[in-house]
Amino acid sequence: MPRPAPSPSNYVGRFAPSPTGALHFGSAVAAVASWLAARSAGGRWLVRVEDLDPPREVPGSAVNILATLAQLGLHSDEPLMYQSGRSEAYADALSHLLSSGCAFHCTCTRRELAEYPIYPGNCRSKGSTIPTDQHSTRFLTNDPSIGDFVLRRADGYWAYQLAVVVDDIAQGITHVVRGADLLDSTPRHLQLFKALGSPAPIYSHLPLARTRAGDKLSKQMFSQSIESADPLSVWRDVLAFLHQPPPPHAIDTIEGLQNSAVAAWSPESIPAASNVRSHWLDGTSEN
Ligand code: GLU
Ligand code: ZN
Repeated sequence: MPRPAPSPSNYVGRFAPSPTGALHFGSAVAAVASWLAARSAGGRWLVRVEDLDPPREVPGSAVNILATLAQLGLHSDEPLMYQSGRSEAYADALSHLLSSGCAFHCTCTRRELAEYPIYPGNCRSKGSTIPTDQHSTRFLTNDPSIGDFVLRRADGYWAYQLAVVVDDIAQGITHVVRGADLLDSTPRHLQLFKALGSPAPIYSHLPLARTRAGDKLSKQMFSQSIESADPLSVWRDVLAFLHQPPPPHAIDTIEGLQNSAVAAWSPESIPAASNVRSHWLDGTSEN
C-alpha cells in the first residue's frame, strides 16, 4: 500500500557544492541523500554554490554541477545562493563575533605556526584591535581539541567555516546531510551557531567509500566524474551505495525513481563508517 504523502514540514535541507571540478559520485551521494531526507520529511531542499575560494575554483564547474544536478532531477526549491555574493553578511557576522569577544585578529605567519598541531593562542590578547600588518581573524574557542580556527584569511578571503554557518542561518537550514569528510568541521560549526545566537541544524554524515580501508576500486568510483554518466544508473548506484532497497527494474524515468526512492527511504539502512556519527546511525543528534 502506498504511504500517505508527508504533510509539509519545517524541514529545510540543502546541498552545498564547491565549484572546484565536475560533480563526482561522492557529491552525488550527498546531493541525493540530502534531497531524499528533505522530500521524505515533506520539507524543502536548497542548493548553495560555495564559490568563496576563487584560487581553487575551476571555471565553468558551477554551471556543470548544476546541469548534472538537473539531469538527476534535483532542483533547488529556492533561487540559488552564491557565496561569492555574500561578503556583506560574512562581514556583519565577523564584526558581531569581534565585538562580543568571540573572535580576534591574528598576525602569526604560517611559518610561526608550522610546528603546532593546533593554534597556540599567540594573538588572543589582540582582540578586535586591528593590526597594521596583514592578519587573519580567528574564532576564540574554549575547546582545546579544536583550536582557534580562521574565519577570515590573511589574503582577505572568507573561510568556509564562517560562510557555511552564516549561510545555513540565513537560509533557515534545519538539517544538514553531508559527507563524513566534513565531520571534523561540525564541532566548529556548532560553536559558531552558538556564538551567533542561532540554533544549530541537525547533522547527519554519510559514509565515504574511502573509509573502507584498502578498497581502491571504490575510492576510484567515488571520485569519478558523473557528468556524462546515465542519470538513471547514477541514481541506482547511489541508492545501492546507501543500502536503500533497489527500485523496481521497470522504472525508467528519473521522476519514477525519485518517487520510489522517497517512498522507500530508509536512513537507518545507510551503512555506518567507523568514523561516522550521525543522528540516523546512533539515534542522537550532535547538538
Ligand atoms: N562546500 C562543501 C564541499 O563541497 C560542503 C559544505 C557542507 O556541506 O557543509 O565540500
Ligand atoms: Zn596569531
